[in-house]
Amino acid sequence: MADKRVWIVLQQREGKLHRMSWEAIVAGQRLAAAIGGQAEAVLLGSQIGGLAGEISGRAQLAALHVGDDPRLADYTPGGYAGALLPALRAAAPAFVVFPHTYQTVDSMPRLAQALGARLLPEVVAFSGSGEELEWRRPVLGGKMHARLRVRGTGPVLLSVQSAAFPAEDLVAGTAPTVPLADLSQVSPDREILGVEEVGGDQVDLTKAGIIVAVGRGVGGADKMAPIHDLAAALGAEIGASRPVIDNGWLPRDRQIGSSGQTVAPKLYLALGISGAIQHLVGMKGSAVVVAVNKDPGAPIFSVAQYGVVGDLHELVPALTAAVREAKS
Ligand SMILES: Cc1cc2nc3c(=O)[nH]c(=O)nc-3n(C[C@H](O)[C@H](O)[C@H](O)COP(=O)(O)OP(=O)(O)OC[C@H]3O[C@@H](n4cnc5c(N)ncnc54)[C@H](O)[C@@H]3O)c2cc1C
Repeated sequence: MADKRVWIVLQQREGKLHRMSWEAIVAGQRLAAAIGGQAEAVLLGSQIGGLAGEISGRAQLAALHVGDDPRLADYTPGGYAGALLPALRAAAPAFVVFPHTYQTVDSMPRLAQALGARLLPEVVAFSGSGEELEWRRPVLGGKMHARLRVRGTGPVLLSVQSAAFPAEDLVAGTAPTVPLADLSQVSPDREILGVEEVGGDQVDLTKAGIIVAVGRGVGGADKMAPIHDLAAALGAEIGASRPVIDNGWLPRDRQIGSSGQTVAPKLYLALGISGAIQHLVGMKGSAVVVAVNKDPGAPIFSVAQYGVVGDLHELVPALTAAVREAKS
């Protein structure tokens, strides 16, 4: 039975579960059902009894393994590896599922190397059952999906991309909590001097009915005035892809995507956004998507109901004028 185990490594900070941890549980539950095995989760941190209780009362899992120790108060790669490696070696799960977060990108390769495991990052779907599972993951910046089978031996460590396994699909139930038996190797290898929230969640784009989202194609902070005019005319919030934020053209709380906010407005205007998977996962729940892009092959058109191949700098002022006229 040991080889039919699926472990799910949850991510939390200060007693709050990362939203993608629920999605990882959903992926782990589905995977366990597909291989005829059982799903178990592991939660690491300090003073996390309350959070462990919340999870064990909500999700159907064969076990929730809890490593509660002051040395695990902050994430450090060495600390987490010291807690996870003995547990994974003892339990020998066939699959270990992680949410695809920056923390996972930092820790998963190190764990895979130490375990001699096979590594499958950024999974967006799988099909099949038993030994014949087929996986999908984006390649070439999301322009294509690769279909993969994993060969060889050893556990498979995989991360699941944001929004690929919706949290609403959680199989509700209960999970007995079990303390991790061996925390003797926990040895934090970084000193965390402090954590700074970048931008925070000052703007809650999740409640916006209309979003005007800009990408790198807008060309600079000095080109934003017509975008603000259009948003004002529509009564819309402004959102952005990550390069816009990284370039400092808009504040961090405007970012939409896997490392930003996940939105589902009635109308999403994507202006000069190519449509990389990390952006799409944050906005594909929008009811109507209108894309404007100079490149007819841009992947954003594959999720858009309406598409304009053209220069956003020509189109946006004309659109603003048309909206103002229609409203008057
Ligand atoms: C771990 C990780 C997390 C990430 N998280 C996010 C995230 O949360 N959100 C996010 O958005 N990205 C994220 N990314 C980055 C993502 O991979 C892409 O790089 C990014 O989404 C691309 O942004 P873009 O579409 O604005 O830029 P580009 O890909 O450079 O596209 C610009 C587009 O503008 C078009 N264009 C140029 N000029 C004009 C014009 N005048 N008129 C019309 N169209 C024009 C071009 O044809 C092009 O399609 C993440 C990446 C990683 C690795």
